Amino acid sequence: MRLLRDDALESGDRRVGTRFWIFPQPPFIPGYEQPDRVWLSIAPDEIGAGPSDATMYVVDPLVDKQPYGFDRLPPFDGAMRAPVQPGPDRHFDSIMPTSRAFLSVHAYACVHLVLDIWQSYLGRPIRWFFDETFPRLEIVAFVEWDNAQAGYGFLELGCSDAEGIRRPYALNFDTIAHEVGHLILLSETGIPTAVSREGDFFPFSEAFSDLVSLISFLHFDSAIDRLLRRTRGNLLLYNELNRFAETSPETQIRLATNFRRMSEVTREVHDRALPFIGAIFDAIVELYHRELVARGCADRRLLDIDLRYLEQEDFDRFRALTAEAFQVRPMIFGLALRAARDAVGQAIAASLRTIDPNTLRLDQAASAIIAAAEGQAAEIIRANFEWREIVNSR
Ligand SMILES: [Zn+2]
Repeated sequence: MRLLRDDALESGDRRVGTRFWIFPQPPFIPGYEQPDRVWLSIAPDEIGAGPSDATMYVVDPLVDKQPYGFDRLPPFDGAMRAPVQPGPDRHFDSIMPTSRAFLSVHAYACVHLVLDIWQSYLGRPIRWFFDETFPRLEIVAFVEWDNAQAGYGFLELGCSDAEGIRRPYALNFDTIAHEVGHLILLSETGIPTAVSREGDFFPFSEAFSDLVSLISFLHFDSAIDRLLRRTRGNLLLYNELNRFAETSPETQIRLATNFRRMSEVTREVHDRALPFIGAIFDAIVELYHRELVARGCADRRLLDIDLRYLEQEDFDRFRALTAEAFQVRPMIFGLALRAARDAVGQAIAASLRTIDPNTLRLDQAASAIIAAAEGQAAEIIRANFEWREIVNSR
């Protein structure tokens, strides 16, 4: 959507945007070692050193910074590394991905891209929920801390440490997109002041943030391409789409491809978010199948079967048919997946304005998304929320 194509590069028009590198998945994931060149929808002369702009800026502390918390808020006023400068052409794609400076540039690009995507779905700019206190978001590119968090005026990124291998979250698009999801939600609904005992704002917030991560990931042309080529168009084989908690700062590895229903989860927020995430993921796959069938690229019977109870024999037949069609018309599969992604992303974004964070329950959040969905997406999303026992069956 806002990932402009390379012909913009040739036009020499500085208003078309600014170039960055983003790793759609952290570079240690096989197949994702190389970053994608991305155009952010902001002109080079609107980005200063840091990078920084009118809505956000990056800092990279020189000292061991304590994580922010209730009594510790931005701005960071300690010693910091010199703000990263763009290249002579004012773009940021000349920074070496292995350099320290790249952490700042990558974190900035990820936050900006996720905002671009969700502002497009919302149809208006997102105003930070903290903008009366802090006009700009502070992004802390690196802290010595095995976590990542977003809060009042800040997003700070630590470093995972698995068996002695340290991996900065600044290089992890999934983690950053998830945290930006929390900021977007609060900016759209306002801060809850008194969540009721039955309230589901926090489980919903985790579900929404994971969905922001998932849907934003599907905006990388290279990711869609890789995903479809690897599966030969068959998304019943789960893969990259459920990797978005690979090095998650959260205690659980959460999967979008789970089969959990509400009667099978606890009150713990991440656990309680699982059926909601699963329902949306399944709705995207189902819409994708519908698009494929409509374009003659998949077996019509796919639409009549509950894929959760698919027999191996049927699965093999569907897979063979899809793979055959994919061989001949791979572009159609990309179109179908983008259409499914956007129908669902649009509905989720449009639902936010009706949400009261203090009283929100998951069934209300689900109903708001169904009401905001257009065409056949509404029925498909409803059926999936029903199967997950989030809304009552009709
Ligand atoms: Zn979270």
